[in-house]
Amino acid sequence: MLVVMERNATASEIRRVVAAIEEMGLEARLLPGKQRSAVGIVGNDGSVDASPLSGLPGVLEVIHVTQPYKQVSREWKPDGTVIRFPGGLAIGGDDVVVMAGPCAVESEAQILAAARAVRDAGAVFLRGGAFKPRTSPYSFQGLGKKGLELLAKAREETGLLVVTEALDPAGVDLIERYADVIQIGARSMQNYSLLKRAGQTRKPVLLKRGMAATVTELLLSAEYLLAEGNPDIILCERGVRGFDAGTRYLLDLTAIPLVHRLSHLPIIADPSHGTGHRDRVTPMARAAVAAGADGLMVEVHPTPERALSDGVQSLAPEQFAALMKECRMIAEAIGRRVAEPAEVP
Ligand code: PEP
Ligand code: MN
Repeated sequence: MLVVMERNATASEIRRVVAAIEEMGLEARLLPGKQRSAVGIVGNDGSVDASPLSGLPGVLEVIHVTQPYKQVSREWKPDGTVIRFPGGLAIGGDDVVVMAGPCAVESEAQILAAARAVRDAGAVFLRGGAFKPRTSPYSFQGLGKKGLELLAKAREETGLLVVTEALDPAGVDLIERYADVIQIGARSMQNYSLLKRAGQTRKPVLLKRGMAATVTELLLSAEYLLAEGNPDIILCERGVRGFDAGTRYLLDLTAIPLVHRLSHLPIIADPSHGTGHRDRVTPMARAAVAAGADGLMVEVHPTPERALSDGVQSLAPEQFAALMKECRMIAEAIGRRVAEPAEVP
């Protein structure tokens, strides 16, 4: 439930609404906004009688949030969430933010070469898994903490921000010390103890859509993060299971305008996992930018044929540079801009 205040409501009128909600044994959350201020009721408010609130001075209206999720909804917060990073970079604003790098951190030479290549082509985030969720327990599982140290080294050298995946709550404890954004992978989208822990970190979280998850389920998983107090959530469409073996997954680009309508959270697209084949990555990256994605996550490897994971879908550096050029033109055509890297420190 949302108590929307009149434009000229005073601070004491807002305080009175908060007190009334708390007297009802519920938790109130202040929601200042550009268009209007509101006070949200957090928790299960299904049976709450709103009439004592609607009569209070300064109250414009009381809205029952119609979706099963609340804090992630546009009803709750009409203004889009913009997540700001040092150096002026923002996700959820006008700029399209590109994250690129290998599937996994494999060695110092590999991650530094990848970082330099994606930075030179114009990416602003370096991606790379140190803890890999692999279908087979015998596949390369990542370098663990050593991988995080190598990512930190690559950040120092290139000025790129770092995004990397946490597989479990202990991984969040470690990764929040190294990364600028903590990734929760498709396989973990409904790992609720991980979501709760990631909701308590101060770092932004990139939440990928599960390969069999609906958009509503994605938003409900994001709700876990907001409910724990983390407002800085970036969603990621990475493809859902299709029926055609010709594509590894089916990149659901409709999810981008749909999420923008339903939620104030930014959403990026991952055309690498979303297609599973190198030759389909650039066309779907272009389409994602055209569809309004707030960013892209692209797998790039200095030598894709030697990658320890996801080599078939990884772009070589020159292919990524071409993708960036095309995406810049498409972003401009729809009144946006691909975010530029900061000056090298
Ligand atoms: C990844 O980004 O490395 C990854 C494993 O992606 P997903 O969780 O979307 O499969
Ligand atoms: Mn991968």
